[in-house]
Amino acid sequence: MTLSPVTHILLDLDGTLYPKDNGIWEEISRRMEHYMAEVLAIPPATIPALRQNYFLNYGTTLRGLQHNYNLDSEAYLAYVHDIDLSRYLEPDSRLRRVLLDLPQPKFIFTNADRDHSLRILTALGIQDLFNGIFDVWAMQYNNKPHPEVYTQALDFIGAGDPSSCVFVEDTPHNLPPAHELGMHTVLVGTGTSAAADYTVTTIYELSSLPLFR
Ligand SMILES: [Mg+2]
Repeated sequence: MTLSPVTHILLDLDGTLYPKDNGIWEEISRRMEHYMAEVLAIPPATIPALRQNYFLNYGTTLRGLQHNYNLDSEAYLAYVHDIDLSRYLEPDSRLRRVLLDLPQPKFIFTNADRDHSLRILTALGIQDLFNGIFDVWAMQYNNKPHPEVYTQALDFIGAGDPSSCVFVEDTPHNLPPAHELGMHTVLVGTGTSAAADYTVTTIYELSSLPLFR
């Protein structure tokens, strides 16, 4: 038996550890749009196109707003994530078994913030299985897919060699920088990416990948 060459696992949070279409994202989106209209006084009819523009040019609505408005980022993040997660998530014993099957240290690598990450992990019953969270604050003024944050993430988790790391993510356009650094990449969901070494429909297939055998 050969040992898996993987020493560290970086996992995206939203849409990766639970299905993208379970309603959480829709509620967060509604809260983002409400905040943009009520607090930043952006005309509601222009908001969907503005968010799409920010997603493509900055990676997240947050970063676009930071560049273009006098945004209180902490207040914004606290507001958009202030949702009752128990309506959408419950402890996921199958996911827990999949993660326990993988002995490598695991880290969250997310464009969201640490508080939101901890609430999601707690709702899924897997918060004790992670060694750290590399979040939007740790990335300072960038976010995935800016190439710099992938290098910062490797430093954060203490991984010297990108080729010993696996990056697991549901947003296809976040994969290329990890792939170019030499990390193993796993795309979760129904998207496609030429930068994905593996594509799985759900996170439950992660521990069965040849990479870990
Ligand atoms: Mg995601």
